[in-house]
Amino acid sequence: MAQDQAPKFSTLAIHAGAAPDPSTGARVTPIYQTASFVFNDADHAASLFGLEAFGNIYTRLTNPTQAVLEGRVAALEGGTAALAVASGHAAQFLVFHTLLEPGDEFVAGRQLYGGSINQFNHSFKKFNWNVVWADATDPASIEKAITAKTKAIFVESIANPGGLVIDLAAIGAIAKRAGIPLIVDNTLASPYLCQPKQFGADIVVHSLTKFMGGHGNSIGGVIVDCGTFDWLGAKHRYKTLVEPNASYNGMKLAETFGNFAFAIAARVMGLRDIGPAISPFNAFLILTGIETLPLRMQKHCENALAVATYLSKHPKVAWVNYAGLPSSPNHAMQMKIAPKGAGAVFTFGVKGGYEAGTKLVAKLKLFSHLANIGDVRSLVIHPASTTHRQLTDEQRTAAGAGPDVVRLSIGIEDKDDIIGDLDQALAEV
Ligand SMILES: *Cc1c(COP(=O)(O)O)cnc(C)c1O
Repeated sequence: MAQDQAPKFSTLAIHAGAAPDPSTGARVTPIYQTASFVFNDADHAASLFGLEAFGNIYTRLTNPTQAVLEGRVAALEGGTAALAVASGHAAQFLVFHTLLEPGDEFVAGRQLYGGSINQFNHSFKKFNWNVVWADATDPASIEKAITAKTKAIFVESIANPGGLVIDLAAIGAIAKRAGIPLIVDNTLASPYLCQPKQFGADIVVHSLTKFMGGHGNSIGGVIVDCGTFDWLGAKHRYKTLVEPNASYNGMKLAETFGNFAFAIAARVMGLRDIGPAISPFNAFLILTGIETLPLRMQKHCENALAVATYLSKHPKVAWVNYAGLPSSPNHAMQMKIAPKGAGAVFTFGVKGGYEAGTKLVAKLKLFSHLANIGDVRSLVIHPASTTHRQLTDEQRTAAGAGPDVVRLSIGIEDKDDIIGDLDQALAEV
């Protein structure tokens, strides 16, 4: 390898952000399980508190294990910096806390993870941050929803759970024209399958709980600053970034920190004051998970395609919604934004409706019946009887959670065993 060749994705997944521990030589990043860090002297303490030097004060703000995770995800997403936090929802909250003032609006594609829909509709209202819903599969509807108060656009790359693939390039161009940042939730794709920055995203968020950590053992989230948005030249005033900051001696964050100012602002204002810090132990587990992200995603996609192909031919299956199937209406868009694979989460319809759906889930043995995705284990849920149980039939169908819908998150077990389990359960339905 030429010395000046930039390392590629699998190399970054293992090495980015990390170095042998300077004090012990430990090759693997240690779990810095400490609440706080000793100052060298009074001047050092003062410079840390004034943001004049980088260093550790207290684990609510920074921690060395967390810092390695941040360096790694920033590298994988092609960003300038990242902020790791306690959950995917905490990441989303801090993004909007950094961007919005009371009374501001943002446009979101309505094809989102159900928890995000709740967060935007209910909790955000308490801050008078107003979501305007549009159709993520129709970029023109996003453009139409933008008003003088709109300060951001939010979409998922591969949308949970319908197997939709979103035209990030078209939406990125809309954000550029409107002069506002595009935020992409890249949880279902992971940066291995899709790097939203290439299509115009300015900020990327993840639930690290899912494919990034990959083992269903810890909750975490991350914000990536792509370093692309010009806060100082923007038509809107993003106050947290551009105004003199009273809690840091009048410092203007965008002026001082340039192309990683958003990541700094989310940390030194949002995380500092709201407080959803990631535990060093969870950061360690997720970091270890990320080292095998490329291998896992290849196997997740290979298995998911095999399972979707099997289901699409099964006489008891009404339909299969997997973008990786060449017959899918989403396949062309998948080849555009995530050509290496369509991910591992998709839905299918079992003939016989509600009864058949619940029975199928009950008869599966290898699949775990639970509310999560992105685990090495294969997972299943019947939304109509669980996550979407409180809704009316019409609401459920509109949300893609009709009575016959079964959602799978295909793991990395042997595909014959995954298909065999579905085969025996379908025989019982
Ligand atoms: C799970 C999930 C979230 C929320 O993340 P948490 O880590 O559970 O807080 C957000 N977006 C998507 C697409 C998810 O799958």
